[in-house]
Amino acid sequence: MAAVRAPSHPRRRRPARYGALALLRHGLSGRDWPRAWPESPLRGRYDVVIVGGGVHGLAAAYYLAVNHGITDVAVLDQGYIGGGGSGRSTAILRSNYLTPEGVRFYDRSMQLYRTLAADLDYNVMFSRRGHLTLAHNDSSLRTMRWRAEVNQLQGVDSEVIDPAEVKRLVPYLDTSAHPRYPILGALYHPPGGIIRHDAVVWGYARAAAARGVSIHQDTEVTGIDVAVHSEGGGKVRGVRTTEGDIATPVVLNATAGWSTLVAAMAGVRLPIATFPLQAAVTEPVRPFLHAVVVSGTLHVYVSQTDRGELVFGASVDPFAAYSTRGTLEFAEGLASHVIELMPALSKMRLLRQWSGLCDMTPDFSPIMGGTEVEGFYVDVGWGTYGFKAGPVSGEAMAKTIASGQPPEIIAAFALDRFTAGTLVGEKGAAAVGH
Ligand SMILES: Cc1cc2nc3c(=O)[nH]c(=O)nc-3n(C[C@H](O)[C@H](O)[C@H](O)COP(=O)(O)OP(=O)(O)OC[C@H]3O[C@@H](n4cnc5c(N)ncnc54)[C@H](O)[C@@H]3O)c2cc1C
Repeated sequence: MAAVRAPSHPRRRRPARYGALALLRHGLSGRDWPRAWPESPLRGRYDVVIVGGGVHGLAAAYYLAVNHGITDVAVLDQGYIGGGGSGRSTAILRSNYLTPEGVRFYDRSMQLYRTLAADLDYNVMFSRRGHLTLAHNDSSLRTMRWRAEVNQLQGVDSEVIDPAEVKRLVPYLDTSAHPRYPILGALYHPPGGIIRHDAVVWGYARAAAARGVSIHQDTEVTGIDVAVHSEGGGKVRGVRTTEGDIATPVVLNATAGWSTLVAAMAGVRLPIATFPLQAAVTEPVRPFLHAVVVSGTLHVYVSQTDRGELVFGASVDPFAAYSTRGTLEFAEGLASHVIELMPALSKMRLLRQWSGLCDMTPDFSPIMGGTEVEGFYVDVGWGTYGFKAGPVSGEAMAKTIASGQPPEIIAAFALDRFTAGTLVGEKGAAAVGH
């Protein structure tokens, strides 16, 4: 794989600081804030074109600029940045996965998230509050023990706790023996939490643009030009867009729910099916829920935002589709399951529900790295769990593009694992808890 060389003088523009002093100065002066990033005309050539302005595409652009000095980069989005899965995510962060490869990978993202606000000069509202995955039967209790062991071996803080400890952490949970599915214990992961998803996207966009990356919204990629080799495979030459053609030797596909459509433009097939995932939010109430709670058996999870709303989610809809409509079945199922867990919530009102697209792989792990087409990279297969991986994926994909080789941390997630049969099975840790 070819590496992209950094220019000797990367372009830099200093963005307005978002510190307390600047806030005070702007408040007193009544002046408008400057644009978070400048608009620039789309050029006919870039060193790197990133398709998809979600957390993954923007993080890759940011780390290309910051870690490798590669700034001749365009991020293209068919809509607005964060308008895909990133802006629809319930933004749960955790690293308590099932496989050593998964735990190591997501834990690196947690490390990057911890300092992200300072790194980006943007308040991303990371709230570390603990994450509980409830076990309602013996087999899920066994899986929780397994996950706790794998987590601890990788240095990640997770343990199995009993119902009394669950009750102490979340007093509103019904831990009695009465429910249809009594709570037998839980996997407790103290570093887990939530974050403000829009802020992460905007923070990466602003910081990448400040280092010279161009961001183009309303710019749909409609084709990818590949010079086909006679012996098979090929080499990327450029992309076609609704705003004009661009020559480039490197294209990164970071389009989540649309990833198979964009890969097909380069002649690359991905083992991915696209499913809708729904979520919902209630009216705000006084803070009472200080942990993220997931129940795989009841297909539901819940957290409380800093504004007091309860955010609920579930597993993907049962049919592959590109629809982003909310359904009554989802709202009904969700409400009955949540009330089973926390009967006191029966009087709360749902304000809104929404849906996003998830690109599901057979092993519930992502696909990252190069493809049989030289210069065509993928960062896809993010299913229902990709928001938390934005920083580590951006860092790893930037390194892959800059050096031509994937770093060790994503080696297990290569596309060829599906032909080699070396799957990274994460279904037990990623089917409901995102
Ligand atoms: C309801 C819901 C809840 C979720 N909850 C969580 C959670 O709690 N924790 C977690 O870790 N993950 C969660 N996820 C998953 C997570 O949101 C996604 O995996 C992640 O946001 C994917 O980010 P991305 O940058 O790869 O893709 P996206 O944010 O989807 O960005 C892809 C972008 O590509 C653009 N695009 C597509 N095709 C083209 C084209 N041809 N040309 C140009 N642009 C194109 C789209 O407009 C889109 O903006 C959730 C997802 C949903 C839907």
